[in-house]
Amino acid sequence: MNETGKSSQSLYSRLFIVLLAMNCIWGCAPHRLALKPSVTPVPSQPPPEPPVLTIDQLLGLQRPPDLIRDTDSDQYAQRTVMENFWKLKEKAAQDGWHLILVSGYRSFNHQRHIWNHFDALYQKTDNLDEKGRARAVMSLVSVPGLSRHHWGTELDISEVSLRGQLVNIHPDTPNRVVQFYDWMERNAPLFGFCKVYLGKKGAVRDEPWHWSFIPFSRVYQEQFMAIKDFHRIMNDKVSNVGYLMKNFKKILKQEIRSINSECFQAKPTENSDHPSVETEGQQQLTPVPKAVEGAD
Ligand SMILES: [Zn+2]
Repeated sequence: MNETGKSSQSLYSRLFIVLLAMNCIWGCAPHRLALKPSVTPVPSQPPPEPPVLTIDQLLGLQRPPDLIRDTDSDQYAQRTVMENFWKLKEKAAQDGWHLILVSGYRSFNHQRHIWNHFDALYQKTDNLDEKGRARAVMSLVSVPGLSRHHWGTELDISEVSLRGQLVNIHPDTPNRVVQFYDWMERNAPLFGFCKVYLGKKGAVRDEPWHWSFIPFSRVYQEQFMAIKDFHRIMNDKVSNVGYLMKNFKKILKQEIRSINSECFQAKPTENSDHPSVETEGQQQLTPVPKAVEGAD
């Protein structure tokens, strides 16, 4: 081989290494995807640094900077997060799926409203005590102040024709639902999103509609875990606050244990599990709590 041949060969192998490294930086894309030529190419540059969030913003007490609105859904998210969702949505449309954003950024007060609604529901229907109620509500709804939706990096994503059908995989699950889960599993990671609630550990159930923009949320998650003082989110407008305060350490641990740690590994492992449940982020609160998309 002549010199030109050798140098172009070495240029190509260097380019290949750079592309592989960028895939790792982007995070959470199943390894098999990097090797599939048929899917959308890996983004050509890493996303920008996440905007710095204050403790108040991490707890939902103040809005994160630069939230932008999705006109189709009237939902908000950080600019980079939303722009990546729109790219994912475009790709989905090419493949015959009409994505809809069910829930994006949520403030502390919004989360408190959802929490209080479900707490009241459990008091009425199941007559549970404080502990029973807290456990039941936490499986559907994050404690106000502890929801990842406060960061502007989390999106509950559904498909227009499948609204209300996204539930656990079981023998009767419609094929199209399974196909949609599969499409999202293969494609959402290419735009930085990872499914953070698998329902395997911790308090929160499987939430296949909830996608986290990992390049930003990995940073916020670390900052969130360093917060020492949570007293401002434990106010008396939060239902069942007495129990929450008494057991706060345990509750915080349960919330954190729910997170799929594979999303934050530099080299994601192959995950061939099918996603299971959905109940999409209902904007109107419904009185049948099985799993509530848009409430966690
Ligand atoms: Zn969610």
